Amino acid sequence: MKELMQRFDWRIYPLIVGEADVPQVLDAFWSLTREKSLVSVPIMAWLLMPMFEGEPILVDTGFRDADRCMKIQGLGPHRMNPEWTLETQLSKHGLKPEDIKTVILTHLHYDHAGGCALLSHAKFIIQRTELQAAAAPMVSPQLDFGGGALFYDRKDIADLIDPLWPRVQLIEGDEEVAPGVTCVLFANTHTPGSQAVYVQTSRGNAVILGDIARKVDLNINKGIPPGLFYDLEATYRAMKQIKKDADFILPSHDYEEVRKYSKGLPSEE
Ligand SMILES: [Zn+2]
Repeated sequence: MKELMQRFDWRIYPLIVGEADVPQVLDAFWSLTREKSLVSVPIMAWLLMPMFEGEPILVDTGFRDADRCMKIQGLGPHRMNPEWTLETQLSKHGLKPEDIKTVILTHLHYDHAGGCALLSHAKFIIQRTELQAAAAPMVSPQLDFGGGALFYDRKDIADLIDPLWPRVQLIEGDEEVAPGVTCVLFANTHTPGSQAVYVQTSRGNAVILGDIARKVDLNINKGIPPGLFYDLEATYRAMKQIKKDADFILPSHDYEEVRKYSKGLPSEE
């Protein structure tokens, strides 16, 4: 990605918008992790606040409904509480859902694209290939998890096609969507149209991963791919590229990493 001349100063806040128990094998290539147990992971959204004249941006929206996720996706228990709703999480930053005008969806899996209907005034920035793949996923009907649609919730995708369609903004490839905020397509990694979100801060580039990688140390630093990907080589290259580009790496399902930034990134102290 070309380096911009001007830097823009964003502050990034992690929002915990749910929790799920999922198989630990999702963290590492095939079953390189010997650990077969379930692990509790946060479901994340990210709030980007400009430290200059500008509007907040929300990255990802969490899941639709904990019981529905557990029943349909076949991964493990999912949990929600009043503290974790998008309304509560946004209110901690003085915002209401209708104040959010721009949402970037890293990809359209049920735990990232389930909260769109709540954001009544937002446009939704999505890679075209991701919406296409989500609408007609390649999946065996014999697979007994993933809701028969490879973790795309049919209701989320239906909503984006209609009634949310007038507010869907499809992009193709890399695009700066606000000053200092760039969507970077990493095709056929976690999903066909997964995008990372590169955000400029006063302390360097933060990269919001979506689920392109799950664990910063295992996947990015050690170079062991995560357990769920489309193209192994594309995933390797994405991890290498992100390692090179990022000063801060923000994964979607890693409590340890999220805790580092609970007061915002860069920290206010
Ligand atoms: Zn996810």
